[in-house]
Amino acid sequence: LTVSDTGPNVQLFDAGDKGHGLRATKELSAGDMVFSEPGFAAVVYDSMAAKVCHNCFRRQSKLHRCAQCRFAYYCDRTCQTACWEEHKLECAAIRKIVTAPNANVRLAARVMWRIHKDTGLGTDNQLVAVDKLEDHLADLGEEDLKQLKTNVGHFFEYWSYGSKQHSSDYISHIFGIVSNGLPLTDQRGLQKVGVGLFPNLCLVNHDCWPNCTVILNNGNQSALNSALHSKRRIELRALGKISEGQELTVSYVDFLNLSTDRKKKLKDLHFFDCTCEHCTQQIKDDLMMAAAESKPSADKVKEVTAFSKENVEKIEAAHAQGNFHEVARLCCETLEKQENVLADTNLYKLRVLSMASEALSYLRAYSEAAEYARKMVEGYTKLYHPNNPQLGLAIMKAGVAHWHAGQIEQGHGFICRAYSILMISHGPNHAITRDLEGLGHSEEERSVELQAEDSRQCSPSPGGPHTPRCSTQ
Ligand SMILES: [Zn+2]
Ligand SMILES: [Zn+2]
Ligand SMILES: [Zn+2]
Repeated sequence: LTVSDTGPNVQLFDAGDKGHGLRATKELSAGDMVFSEPGFAAVVYDSMAAKVCHNCFRRQSKLHRCAQCRFAYYCDRTCQTACWEEHKLECAAIRKIVTAPNANVRLAARVMWRIHKDTGLGTDNQLVAVDKLEDHLADLGEEDLKQLKTNVGHFFEYWSYGSKQHSSDYISHIFGIVSNGLPLTDQRGLQKVGVGLFPNLCLVNHDCWPNCTVILNNGNQSALNSALHSKRRIELRALGKISEGQELTVSYVDFLNLSTDRKKKLKDLHFFDCTCEHCTQQIKDDLMMAAAESKPSADKVKEVTAFSKENVEKIEAAHAQGNFHEVARLCCETLEKQENVLADTNLYKLRVLSMASEALSYLRAYSEAAEYARKMVEGYTKLYHPNNPQLGLAIMKAGVAHWHAGQIEQGHGFICRAYSILMISHGPNHAITRDLEGLGHSEEERSVELQAEDSRQCSPSPGGPHTPRCSTQ
């Protein structure tokens, strides 16, 4: 067996209203890799086309352009050669129409080329042929159907394979399947750079409190010779004990939303009514809306909640503009209002704490960033599953912030906690886990490197490195 094999852990079954499902064929424990799967097809997003390698999806500054289509970019000749089988027909198609079509069309086209070349089964362990997956076309609204029609039109201008012809119904069906694609991140998991279709993963149903998590492993790209790099794949990993015969689930939405909001998102984006235990029993909704222990009046809670809602929108707008001084100022103002009114697990408090610690880290106000990150982690810990990857990443950020603030011992404590979660959710071979291993052994350079990766996400604010302070401190 190679690492790309699905392996003997799963079985397809009829999950009733939910259609297909996957279940465990043996008992699994936290951190077990249930299966790993290479993408059937994947493409880089339009906006990332010149920023990441189209073969390994690494984000880097020195990329070489395909001289023929002038659209695809690669790390080096090895990446280009590795990708040529996939790119060959695409390269000719792009040259034919001059401007490359959008990522959806490019992905559908790659899927169709592969179906003709390799049939719809990419590996021996793929449980269902790609074109037998669900398309959800019957659930699409008017706008989506219009967009679909446009995409299908672009597809026919773009795609060709000898004299092969397809009906627009069949191609619409393929677009429906492609919309189940998984966003793909760069090598550190920090930024979404593309989308890929993973057929077995498409068969795993949703639960807001899932027993598995899916992570992208960009493979080992650290070898000097890129011919030795291992392939990009997803891994489905068990978050806790799973018994034989139990259905495997992942969550399509972040748990940190009220059950009504999660249900709405799932209905809008994935077209089903969530009937999971956490939604039906509204588990933890009370904590996510809770008032502070000092028992403020209902009116006060209502007023502060409305104020927070408004300010969160302003904070997000400032964040989108890269104005981190404004983000920090608004966060401090909101947190001050929330003090003694909203509980530490209240979603409005947690959202502000998260944005505050990010902005203050960026502005190098590390001790305040660390304090807010610590409070955020306390709230997250009461809400998330103990092995939730988002919790692990938040604890990691708290660790880095403490480290930078010179609070080495606390920083180390967070890093160790993050490490034990990410060993389960991401596994020992993931780049993030390996980074943490370095941090745990007090190599400060690694911490600096992590932070640098982190801040590259943000465009610098025009105000310079001045540090804002909360008026209460
Ligand atoms: Zn590459
Ligand atoms: Zn090309
Ligand atoms: Zn649910």
